[in-house]
Amino acid sequence: MTTALRANVGGVVLAVCAAAWSVAGAQASQPLVVRQSATPCLNVRVEPKADAAPMVCVLPGTAITGDSSVPFWRRIRAPDGTHVVTGWAAKKFLDTASTGAVVAPASSNPNTIPDSAWLEIHIVDVGQGDGIWISTWDDGKPGNGRFDGKNIVIDGGPDGNDAKDEMLKYLEQHAHHNAKIDALIISHPHNDHYPGARGVLRHFEVCSYYDPDTPNGQDFDKFLVQVDSAGCDGKPIEKHRGLANLGTPKWGSELTVEWLWGGPITVAGMGTGNTKTNNASLVMKLTYGTQSFLFMGDAEGKERTGSPDTPRYAEKAMLDDPAVAVKLKSTMLKIAHHGSESSSTLPFIAAVDPEILIVSSGRKNFNGPFLPDRATLNRYCAHNANVHIYRTDQNDEAEGRTTANDADGDHIVIRTNGKRTIVQAFENGQPFTPTPGCHP
Ligand SMILES: [Zn+2]
Ligand SMILES: [Zn+2]
Repeated sequence: MTTALRANVGGVVLAVCAAAWSVAGAQASQPLVVRQSATPCLNVRVEPKADAAPMVCVLPGTAITGDSSVPFWRRIRAPDGTHVVTGWAAKKFLDTASTGAVVAPASSNPNTIPDSAWLEIHIVDVGQGDGIWISTWDDGKPGNGRFDGKNIVIDGGPDGNDAKDEMLKYLEQHAHHNAKIDALIISHPHNDHYPGARGVLRHFEVCSYYDPDTPNGQDFDKFLVQVDSAGCDGKPIEKHRGLANLGTPKWGSELTVEWLWGGPITVAGMGTGNTKTNNASLVMKLTYGTQSFLFMGDAEGKERTGSPDTPRYAEKAMLDDPAVAVKLKSTMLKIAHHGSESSSTLPFIAAVDPEILIVSSGRKNFNGPFLPDRATLNRYCAHNANVHIYRTDQNDEAEGRTTANDADGDHIVIRTNGKRTIVQAFENGQPFTPTPGCHP
């Protein structure tokens, strides 16, 4: 991994690192067995990619050894006649061998996060919309409720056709056929957030589903029918709809998951139409060690023409609730509503006080303005001139892009080991280092 340090702000190290697989932690070897569901046999491949060349195909029930791990894949050693081959196999088809041995925890202190335990957050360039994939670290010891390599998807972007579904394409680059997504979250039912999740539901097993339980017409109702037909490990999908029913997701005891806001809207003052749907957005905070990550969906804070001094809508509701307001401070903020002027009031920015600002947007013309609104980003820069802004529409304006689905590989990959957070930006699929300083 080549790492060029750019800045060290309050324990947050922002850097570039070119190798996608280099942060996999070292794990102890573990006896495994190939699951019966691997029919007719489990392909062991030269790389952790679905299209990588197969080296050998191992029959179900075969004892193998598991070594290191990356999202969706495990490096294994498997018998091949009298030889042993080393390659990559899909985790979904591997089971722990019942040796009777008790697997020791990674540390005597269950709260300790090893330095090598990198949690990844991928902000996928889906054009105008949101599409986020979160992958927790895997210590290769399933079943102990921590570091179990969970995969969580928030939204899927605007396009559900396989050929144009950027979220699907991105996941397929990293996963394998029929890979398991532990949780699919639809922040709210707008057509720049849920349609791309259709491809995720078609091509992967999905274990659980979360949304704000707010209606948005026939197309979303059809999407919900597709959700109903999903599942994983032979079990139907678990559905959690509406803030009161979200529960505490079991994504590993090392990760704190908090729902700070979400629909259905039962109180007055949340607007009507699209505004009300935006204000139903599930707002989720993840805390991993000392680092925290706030995902806003499209929750709003004001009218476009309103003053940024006075919060309204979802922002006001969160700031007015002392139990929620105290939790808003976060290392990273996925900015609300694609950086629209209708969010990010000054009291809200002060409460979150992010060191890293992530803008997921595309070049869609909303009757004149494109998102993000420059004035909105200016407010973050005025609050903290050292805030680091990363965008999925990087240079798209200068490149003359003017269509909604202008996805061109401006992905953002965030990695944290609970002590520091490293951000890798891409432009047109290539590693990219933004100029230091706040550039709205
Ligand atoms: Zn949106
Ligand atoms: Zn929306």
